[in-house]
Amino acid sequence: MKITLRKVGKTPFEFERKLDSIELKGFLQHDKENLIALKAKLTGTVETQCADCGDEFDLEVDEDLEFYISDGVFIDENNANIDVVETQNGELDVDELINSEIELIKSDYHCCEFCVMGED
Ligand SMILES: [Zn+2]
Repeated sequence: MKITLRKVGKTPFEFERKLDSIELKGFLQHDKENLIALKAKLTGTVETQCADCGDEFDLEVDEDLEFYISDGVFIDENNANIDVVETQNGELDVDELINSEIELIKSDYHCCEFCVMGED
């Protein structure tokens, strides 16, 4: 699913996208200059590997995403030091966003419920 950034104005532009077992739901809103604020919630399950025993398991995901989207290259002139995702073609690829978040979650250290219980 792709969202044309031009369509996003001052009123929140709501979106919802489900990919397999994970869902991203939230809104986009024009912020300042060429920036669009994204606020969304990522929920569902991600299949990942236990760092301890190596078994595949479903990890519960419930994360708030909050960052800015720049239509084109973003130059941080004011050194605002904010999280900005740059897009090309004036479109936000929501599927790609979800997939990169999933990859990020998978790259973290996770243990399956059995190994977590074993640690106590
Ligand atoms: Zn395990």
